Amino acid sequence: MLDSEKIKAIEQAEKRYQNISTFSPMMQHYIETKYEYKDCILCYRLGDFYEMFFEDAVICSRELELTLTGKDCGQEERAPMCGMPHHAVDGYISKLVEKGYKVAICEQVEDPKEAKGIVKREVIKVVTPGTIVDSVSLDEKKNNFIMSIYKESVFFGLAICDISTGDFYATEIKEDNNFSKLLDEIARYNPSEIITNEMMYLSKDEIKVIETRFNAYISKEETGFTDDLKNVTNMLDVVGTVSLENKTLAVYAINGLLNYIENTQKQIPENLNKVKVYETTKYMSLDVSARRNLELTERMRDKSKVGTLLWVLDKTDTSMGGRLLRRWISDPLIDVKEINNRLDAVEELKQSPILRDDVKESLKRVYDIERLAGKISYGTANARDLISLKNSILELPNVKNILSKTKSSMLNNLYNNLDTLDDIYELIERAIVDDPPLQITEGGIIKKGYIPELDELIDISTNGKKWLIDIETKEKELTGIKNLKIGYNKVFGYYLEVTKSFLKMVPQDRYIRKQTLTTGERYITEELKNKENEIVGAQEKIVKIEYEEFTKIRHFIEDNSKRLLNAANIVATLDCIQSFATVANEKNYCKPDVNNSDVIDIKEGRHPVIEKMLKAGEFIENDSYLDSKDNRLAIITGPNMAGKSTYMRQVALITLMAQIGSFVPATDAHIGVVDKIFTRVGASDDLAMGESTFMVEMMEVANILKNATENSLVILDEIGRGTSTYDGLSIAWAVAEYISKIKAKTLFATHYHELTKLENELDGIKNLHVAVKERGEDVIFLRKILEGGTDESYGIHVAKLAGVPQDVSKRANEILKNIERKSILKERENSKDKLVKEEDQGQLSMYNFKLAELAEKLDKMDTNNMTPIEALNALQKLKEIL
Ligand code: ATP
Repeated sequence: MLDSEKIKAIEQAEKRYQNISTFSPMMQHYIETKYEYKDCILCYRLGDFYEMFFEDAVICSRELELTLTGKDCGQEERAPMCGMPHHAVDGYISKLVEKGYKVAICEQVEDPKEAKGIVKREVIKVVTPGTIVDSVSLDEKKNNFIMSIYKESVFFGLAICDISTGDFYATEIKEDNNFSKLLDEIARYNPSEIITNEMMYLSKDEIKVIETRFNAYISKEETGFTDDLKNVTNMLDVVGTVSLENKTLAVYAINGLLNYIENTQKQIPENLNKVKVYETTKYMSLDVSARRNLELTERMRDKSKVGTLLWVLDKTDTSMGGRLLRRWISDPLIDVKEINNRLDAVEELKQSPILRDDVKESLKRVYDIERLAGKISYGTANARDLISLKNSILELPNVKNILSKTKSSMLNNLYNNLDTLDDIYELIERAIVDDPPLQITEGGIIKKGYIPELDELIDISTNGKKWLIDIETKEKELTGIKNLKIGYNKVFGYYLEVTKSFLKMVPQDRYIRKQTLTTGERYITEELKNKENEIVGAQEKIVKIEYEEFTKIRHFIEDNSKRLLNAANIVATLDCIQSFATVANEKNYCKPDVNNSDVIDIKEGRHPVIEKMLKAGEFIENDSYLDSKDNRLAIITGPNMAGKSTYMRQVALITLMAQIGSFVPATDAHIGVVDKIFTRVGASDDLAMGESTFMVEMMEVANILKNATENSLVILDEIGRGTSTYDGLSIAWAVAEYISKIKAKTLFATHYHELTKLENELDGIKNLHVAVKERGEDVIFLRKILEGGTDESYGIHVAKLAGVPQDVSKRANEILKNIERKSILKERENSKDKLVKEEDQGQLSMYNFKLAELAEKLDKMDTNNMTPIEALNALQKLKEIL
């Protein structure tokens, strides 16, 4: 959304437009243009600089550390101005966009030499966070998405696109809980920019939530959102299993996005040629906090990739594969057949090290075909990019050959659909030199033999130069001037230079003086002039022909974008499969049996990330079993640091890994697919949103309780921790009861040992605990999950481990003992009271009476002064009473 500075700039731009006639002619054009692109920083080309004026100048001088000057503009006061040199403009624009500005580039569109009056200028593109295609600004292993949201009543249409790669998706949200579903979809793509229709933009509360949760530039578009299906199908092929026929909301969103792309890029680039329409139910639903808590693609703490699931699974060798892998992790599948297709392919490569190595070797030589295709479509690809493309295509027959040896249906499919783009390879090979220059406007790009006319011109140009040297030799001989030299400068062209001492020997009839120097004179001859014209003419023609031919070739390839992108997609898919296979092999993962049952059964499971961080063999494996009958909800107790969170996340991650088609860190795993994974883990860093930790916790819990189904997997870590003990316990208890009714498979870690009683009260609840061993004063964490509950916390022990001063931990121990003693006494009082009350009500039970007796006896027991035998005997007596 716009901040106050941007709003003020827009107001001022409008004001100036109202008084436009009072400005100088050039400034009038500037003001007119700025009025059209009010919400952008307008970079206005003047000669070798792009200049910014007025508020834009002030912003740019601050953000880019450029000097603020001024320019006469027909008014009393000069207009504030600052400028950036044209050759460095890309870097400056990227910086502005990164800082949250939109930038409009207004270019000279006619040659200043040929202009009559003011040079014609036009905005040639608008650069925004979601439409930037300049490769230095883009992370090569990450998509840069722009999302369009069309809202109608409580429903949403969505279109999402990465214009640098051509990825384009669309869907609709028409179910209950629409807004949280919308948040899920935004989280799936994590767009850098969102455009909305008016209705969405006016839903201030919703926009505010989106704004605080995601780091996206949000703006409203007035036009472009239409239900014109024809407009979409004219431009894009609709791929995937879902048609757009009855998806009007999605059509609105797509048209809105296409219109925006056209307005900013001034074209619809060829690499945008298909849209994949999907139902949101096709993928596992993961809300924002689950994605963040499970640290799928970025770490909570520092947003880095290291320490995430992506970090473990990414062994891709191409940028395209890297981006697709990230998408796969973000979009776990639900369809068992589709999942197994991936798993079978991974298995095939895992089992064949030779095949796997061949794939890796080959993929290493493939460049980013997707983004090269993008550059070609935007007309920014140079000859070196085409050589990169050629070298990538060169690998395709090899990839096809490797794929021909595979059997799994997915890899076979890749084989059948891989077009090796031979014609494009041949064209580039025939036309473009192997090591072309960066510039495409200076010749030296086209290979000899490709265009006969060009070869002739090159001949004239190069032989011409040789001929000039011949003239030098010839003239030396004819005139006897030993140090006569041929030279060149921009103003006079080629000349013959004679030093002062030889001036007498210059033949006056043939030599025409052109320039006087302190050291001598420069002359031309008619012969020299003619030859020069021929050479310069040839050079100019060479540059022109080469440029034209190059753009012709680029256009031809652009027309084949679809084929390029299909090949790119096959390479990326193969890369993801090999990445899974490589990790599975290195880390000893097993192939999960993914099915439609309601059971999650994992043998000797490990946490993929923690395992990778520890030394080999240090991670302790654990089994997990959940179903929707007797083992729906596991209450996990255990001391701090025992490994509860790790265990729960491990189950969620293994399930998710299985559903993206990856092998899993376990010795055996049967995974009945889950529709959603929810997590409520630890303290959240949502405090920036202005809510308290406890509020955020409860909002997340509310979301889970509203949306979890019988097929969901829920991870709850210490619910209620953020409030007073009794409030917290009561909330945790009620949540556990409620969730057991939903029947979602749930892992519930808690420090409230009271919750372990639920096992006996409700169906489907199992107590688990993490084992520890006491040795003297020390506690050894065994990291083993066992059946049953525990009521030890060892919090003070952990505090000691963490380096809390010894005095504090000692004192804490004393206080703890005190509190424990008091609470036993209090409990006894309560039991007595309760007995009396129940007696009053005629409900005296023998059991309660005996419990009170037991408590009293226990309290009196002086365990410090007992021998082990005495203790055993006392224990026996207590048992007898019970
Ligand atoms: P708290 O109750 O204090 O939040 P916790 O029980 O959730 O603690 P975790 O955070 O899961 O404990 O684990 C603490 C640390 O123990 C982890 O960072 C990890 O290094 C180690 N750990 C956990 N599980 C295992 C395991 N199975 N094998 C080896 N190390 C483990």
